[in-house]
Amino acid sequence: IRVLGIESSCDETAVAIVTGERAILAQAIASQEAEHGPYGGVVPEIAARAHAERLAPLVERVLDEAGCGLGDCDAIAATAGPGLIGGVMVGLVTAKALAMASDVPLMAINHLEGHALSPRLADPSLRFPYALLLVSGGHCQILRVAGPGRYRRLATTIDDALGEAFDKTAKILGLGYPGGPAVERLAQEGDASAVDLPRPLVGRQEPHFSFAGLKSAVLRAKQAQGSADYSDADIAASFQQAALDCILDRTRRALREMDDVTALVVAGGVAANRTVRAGLESLAGEFALPFTAPPLPLCTDNAAMIAWAGVERLAAGFAPDPLDLKARPRWPLDPDAEPARGAGV
Ligand code: ATP
Ligand code: MG
Ligand code: FE
Repeated sequence: IRVLGIESSCDETAVAIVTGERAILAQAIASQEAEHGPYGGVVPEIAARAHAERLAPLVERVLDEAGCGLGDCDAIAATAGPGLIGGVMVGLVTAKALAMASDVPLMAINHLEGHALSPRLADPSLRFPYALLLVSGGHCQILRVAGPGRYRRLATTIDDALGEAFDKTAKILGLGYPGGPAVERLAQEGDASAVDLPRPLVGRQEPHFSFAGLKSAVLRAKQAQGSADYSDADIAASFQQAALDCILDRTRRALREMDDVTALVVAGGVAANRTVRAGLESLAGEFALPFTAPPLPLCTDNAAMIAWAGVERLAAGFAPDPLDLKARPRWPLDPDAEPARGAGV
């Protein structure tokens, strides 16, 4: 199997070709950091325009690099949601045009399924079902992953996503956008016990998340810095530790409800954080489970994970999608999940 993948749901325009043998034949990512940086966050209109300008040349480049034509692909897989709708539509329309022109089937991919299956692209030993902590810019969920299209959500955030909390902390500390990697770098020089920050929902029965209160506490700590004796690095380190304590407590609770999983897995942009990876690895040890995290470039948005989700769906027998399929700004992996009511704050 050979699948061309297209990703355009946020601020990376990405194209990749991946095989059923887990080879990434070629890939290209054009990031829009330079365009959005001055605004301190992603501007949807600017993102859509940048995707439209860059996508076609990237497709050509990747086909060239892989030394194949569209006709050699078994499917064209494109993110069809969730995400910024303008960008998703650019990617999906491009994929439909390529599919029509080359008579290759279209596979519409849920961006979150791309993240959720990405660990299997790099780790052939990872088997279903596995426990997944999905931590990205827009999501913070714990899922039981039984296969492509087969997700049970055990927990979600009742307010902010974890990546969002990293990005807001970066903004408060004047580290610019995107913030996660900058907070991680600064935290290395700080004392994680220097600033007293809350651990929202820790100890609660249901394994849901909340990060809004933590973010507000970071803001108050920064405002009170003049009369205190901690550095920005101390704030970054204390924030990262508080966030880690939250996800470890919540994931530990969820794991007690998943006695049949074969591994603990983390995916999404925040999975690139080394402190988060190390903490989860030791948590997996508590449950005698193997731990898997994708290689760093597969954590943040990329097209190899979208192509790989296409490979997985083809292999699992999912039918191609019709060419009149619509983009979906919202698209939960587990449509039956209850809203995170009763989490209590
Ligand atoms: P979603 O996948 O929910 O639609 P997204 O696609 O915007 O959101 P990703 O690309 O998966 O999100 O991840 C981006 C997020 O990951 C950003 O919030 C970013 O700050 C965060 N992030 C990236 N690297 C790190 C890191 N090393 N430490 C902490 N956070 C990080
Ligand atoms: Mg991005
Ligand atoms: Fe993402």
